Amino acid sequence: MQARRLARLGINNVCRLLCYYPRSYQDRRYQDLLDQAPQKEWVNILVRVRSKHWLGRPSQKILKVVVEDQSGCASLLCFGRKFLDRTLQTGRMYRVFGSFKYRCDELQSSNFEIEQYLPPEDRLKSRSGVGSFGHILPCYPLTEDLTQGALRRLVQQALLLTEDLEESLSPGLRQKHGFLEHRQALRAIHFPESFEELELARKSLVYEELFTYQLILSRLRMQRQSLKKTRRRHPARLKTDFLKRLPFRLTDDQQLVLAEIEKDLFSPRPAARLVQGDVGCGKTLVGFIASLLVIEAGEQVAFLAPTELLARQHAENAARLLEPLGIRVALLTGAVRGAPRKALTQALEMGEIDLLLGTHALFSAGIRYKLLGLVIVDEQQRFGVRQRQEILSKGDHPDLLLLTATPIPRTLALTLFADLTLSEIRSKPPGRKEIITHLTRQGNEAKVYERVRQEVAKGGQAYFVYPLIEDSKELKLKNAVDMFHILNDRIFPELRLGLIHSRMHEEDKRKVMKAFVAATLDILVATSVVEVGVDVPRASCMVIEHAERFGLSDLHQLRGRVGRGAGQAYTFMIYSGELTETGVQRLKVIKNLSDGFSIAEEDLRIRGPGEFLGHRQSGFLKLGLADLVKDQQLFVQAGRDVEMILDRDPVLKEHPTYRRLLNLELEDVSKATAHNLKENFKRKRSLREG
Ligand code: ADP
Ligand code: MG
Repeated sequence: MQARRLARLGINNVCRLLCYYPRSYQDRRYQDLLDQAPQKEWVNILVRVRSKHWLGRPSQKILKVVVEDQSGCASLLCFGRKFLDRTLQTGRMYRVFGSFKYRCDELQSSNFEIEQYLPPEDRLKSRSGVGSFGHILPCYPLTEDLTQGALRRLVQQALLLTEDLEESLSPGLRQKHGFLEHRQALRAIHFPESFEELELARKSLVYEELFTYQLILSRLRMQRQSLKKTRRRHPARLKTDFLKRLPFRLTDDQQLVLAEIEKDLFSPRPAARLVQGDVGCGKTLVGFIASLLVIEAGEQVAFLAPTELLARQHAENAARLLEPLGIRVALLTGAVRGAPRKALTQALEMGEIDLLLGTHALFSAGIRYKLLGLVIVDEQQRFGVRQRQEILSKGDHPDLLLLTATPIPRTLALTLFADLTLSEIRSKPPGRKEIITHLTRQGNEAKVYERVRQEVAKGGQAYFVYPLIEDSKELKLKNAVDMFHILNDRIFPELRLGLIHSRMHEEDKRKVMKAFVAATLDILVATSVVEVGVDVPRASCMVIEHAERFGLSDLHQLRGRVGRGAGQAYTFMIYSGELTETGVQRLKVIKNLSDGFSIAEEDLRIRGPGEFLGHRQSGFLKLGLADLVKDQQLFVQAGRDVEMILDRDPVLKEHPTYRRLLNLELEDVSKATAHNLKENFKRKRSLREG
């Protein structure tokens, strides 16, 4: 039973239990008096039991215990705890931790913990470890039928097992930073003696995580540096032809980045570069030009997009722009099956396809390239490192080019992507109009709807975006499906509306999108699926309801869906009236800034730790205790330490601790500590047996 409850929390062994960190702590070191109870949420008191009574009908008896200290008295209502009648004795002293309120003219609590008071000398004798009073106690995220008390006891037992565990970091490193020993850190993160000790424990464990992370990055980097590649030099005729046919000139930043990529492509080692740049700054175009350089050398390019929708759009653009140059372009998604897929696979293997665009189907089993020279990953934050590695393994160490429209401040990016070289495209193609952003409080939607009506009358199109697909029991929010009907039937009966969301069939999505692009739909009701890359020049309005539900970078991405044509474009963000100060501040950032880099920097500044990058963080990096923002210093430090260790003594790579860590994947960093523990336990066991 207990095991099943724990499993629900993802705890299926001792290591996981030890790494199930508290959500918060209760400070029970100080003693309060009963008369302070009404002013405090929780009090920690020492009381004497004055009397006990039974209340209610015999079938539903409730025990009421009257307690007192020198400042007053109060009643404890023991719902469902009849056993307390046996354990509590009148006249004896007890410690109580509880929440009290005045009710029926007396101070009452039904939410309390109680424990017999032992004078200090007896406490020393009863070696029961940490009691529930006089300490800082952990509060864990719980599940049904599992109490804090039970979980605390389990963790205490687990901590006993760590007694003679080996360190996971080298003692030198630990001492250098003044971190706690591993097992001490674990004990202190669960049962700290002070908040200072707690912070030190957190830092010690965070460092371990980040050290692992940096170690894995350095492994990726070293692997790449140990490889060689040769690519035939050529006159870059395709690129010149392509640029000649373009109706515009590349921006300065595009040219710069392209020069960097060109250098990568013809360097003797496989390269991995991340290009950060706002929506619409021309990254995809740069990717296409890079492809031409590789294709002219007689190699193939795989261009990976996160959604079918986007893959298809890229393929259409590639066909339009590149086929006239004689480039053979193909699209591969999960929807391509049967005979067409077979034909495509064969052509690919024969080298009859130069540029293959698609979703992760690009690296499914059975897909073989004749000579894969370059892998481009669009919107890389959507893919994990493992997926990246999988597609790289399809070729003989192809170059890697990652594109992302979720810019991350440079200082952070340097540590986060230490295995990549970074490029930025900051400037926008000329002639782009700023998108006007309006913030509208919930309740004033009618005004927004009216503005949309006017825009559509002028020949524009609009997106309406909602945080949910369908009605949800937990969240009382507007959702795309219901709002589609409301907007369609009641608000815009004269207009043509479509609906798109991720749970629809690909085929239906494609139809709807096609209709919207062809302007046979005026309004597209959607979830954030439209967020990534979709390009509809006539779309001039973006309405986002419950804007506060989205991360700043998501909002910025969504806004980037409009303003792709010649006319003025608008974004309307409708927000809840109950927004917090920070919430309002965040939306103002989005309203006032138009550049993704600045928005990211502001977001970082305003938002509380742990929220930065919102759900996206989970896409490419799951940290356990570490926080990208709060622990930036440690992040940098861990990177330097890893570098120093490997520089000074490359043989350390053979050290078992490091080798162990090197077996971890980047995605597993959040489990690094648990992983280390497990390995440590294994060693301990084998030592004992041996
Ligand atoms: P991103 O991938 O960064 O969102 P794209 O490469 O899709 O940007 O470019 C967005 C739009 O801008 C496309 O229609 C593209 O043709 C156009 N574009 C790209 N570079 C330029 C430029 N230098 N001048 C004018 N338009 C450009
Ligand atoms: Mg793009």
